[in-house]
Amino acid sequence: KKITIAIDGFSSTGKSTLAKQLAKHLGYVYVDTGAMYRAVTYYAMQKGYIDDTHFDKTALIKDLPNINLRFSFNSELGFAEMYLNGENVEKVIRTLEVSNKVSRVAEVSEVRAKLVEQQQEMGADKGVVMDGRDIGTVVFPNAELKLYMTASAITRAQRRYDELIAKGDTVTYEQVLKNVEERDRIDSSREDSPLVKADDAIAIDNSKLTIQEQFDKVLRLVAD
Ligand code: C5P
Repeated sequence: KKITIAIDGFSSTGKSTLAKQLAKHLGYVYVDTGAMYRAVTYYAMQKGYIDDTHFDKTALIKDLPNINLRFSFNSELGFAEMYLNGENVEKVIRTLEVSNKVSRVAEVSEVRAKLVEQQQEMGADKGVVMDGRDIGTVVFPNAELKLYMTASAITRAQRRYDELIAKGDTVTYEQVLKNVEERDRIDSSREDSPLVKADDAIAIDNSKLTIQEQFDKVLRLVAD
């Protein structure tokens, strides 16, 4: 019987690595909800609604009906890529420029309402692994398995830094750590759907786990 797996936690706690492994192993659909918030942020940047100092929320809210988000499975990569109004934005949404603004965009209730609705539709048939900040609490409060991932900020910043450098980005470790800490702060203190552990979520601190150890541990939970 297919179930819904909700994975929440701070940025760079290894949510997407685990979610992709699980989806592949179980033949489930993987939905990266962070990519959706990132795509809306990228759109707002292109339109000039947000920069480092200003954010015209009203303009973005008015324009929300014109934002079309879609995932398209790339069999070479083995996961679905994010499309914004028909354009593949999978790469451009992962830059530090987007990361530095996404938590401010994710605070807007109208943005959350739109994305949560689409996420619920995508997971309506079960057999889905979804990762984000509010999946076990808001999107799928009845998910059969909820995981809450944690790791120290230093471990997480190092992981994100390694990822960005591998992609050829020119960032410093300090910039990445600052971004991780700033997003932690905004994500856990916002009014609408702050990041909190669902009461029935299982906490996994992977600071000391290898990817394989973590996967084995979670597979045992799925089997239960
Ligand atoms: O998971 P990722 O780091 O790509 O998410 C980017 C940002 O999107 C988070 O820092 C958070 O502000 C926002 N987000 C959210 N709710 C989700 C997923 C992501 O608010 N379900």
